[in-house]
Amino acid sequence: MPLVTTGELVADAREKGRGVAAFNVITLEHAEAIAAGAEQAGRDAVLQISENAVKFHGGHLAPIAAAAAAVAGASSARLSLHLDHVESVELMRAAHPAGFSSVMFDASKLGYGENVEATADAVRWGRERGIWIEAELGRVGGKAGEAPLDAHAPGVRTDPAEATAYVRDTGVDALAVAVGSSHAMTERTAALDHELIAALRDAVPVPLVLHGSSGVPDEEIRRAVASGMVKINVGTALNTAFSGAVRGFLDSDSTAVDPRKYIAPGRDAMAATVAGFLGLLG
Ligand SMILES: [Zn+2]
Repeated sequence: MPLVTTGELVADAREKGRGVAAFNVITLEHAEAIAAGAEQAGRDAVLQISENAVKFHGGHLAPIAAAAAAVAGASSARLSLHLDHVESVELMRAAHPAGFSSVMFDASKLGYGENVEATADAVRWGRERGIWIEAELGRVGGKAGEAPLDAHAPGVRTDPAEATAYVRDTGVDALAVAVGSSHAMTERTAALDHELIAALRDAVPVPLVLHGSSGVPDEEIRRAVASGMVKINVGTALNTAFSGAVRGFLDSDSTAVDPRKYIAPGRDAMAATVAGFLGLLG
């Protein structure tokens, strides 16, 4: 079916007391696997493309965005297109003509005042075009090219009072918060601060977003959704599944050269991972 909007999927999940998962698309096969997993689970999903994935595609947003949108169009699942972790204002502006309904504008590396100013500008841009804007307050560490953050470093937990002021002053549609998860974890060992999640849900009027969910165990994800997390971002878990299956195939067949032979099990493994995460969301 045609793309739906991320705002619609998130509002729908929140109303039903559920979570909606957003999965990172790096290649065409990621988008195909996310659509297949969503169909298997009978659930909605967000196809999200990060600034780092755009860099991987030579800085070109349009080809991978068009591919993901076409996969959504051919799927029976309700899927939306989201641009993730955008630091470049120029790339953010390219989201609109490329068919995205939402952008995560990431000014989390800036100081508080500069973050508010840059994000409020992004929200104004989004409002004029009907683009839903997510932002991050508090640092969720482990992004590509970044050292993991120390769990006790300042800013690795989002403060509810600061979050309330931030949402009021920027006008964002959703807020990514730091509650104990980290990006790029290949083992699912993160422990979340559930009291903080509940405090943030009560303090902040917009839906909360959990980044770095690949490293969060099943039960912790269930509890996070029950305590108020709405958008659950998953990236690394798909890559772990893909690479494991491809490696397994190539290890067992040293003469394989047709990429379809080894990419197919990788894509199937990603679809199973997607369906597994979607089953945790209430
Ligand atoms: Zn993230």
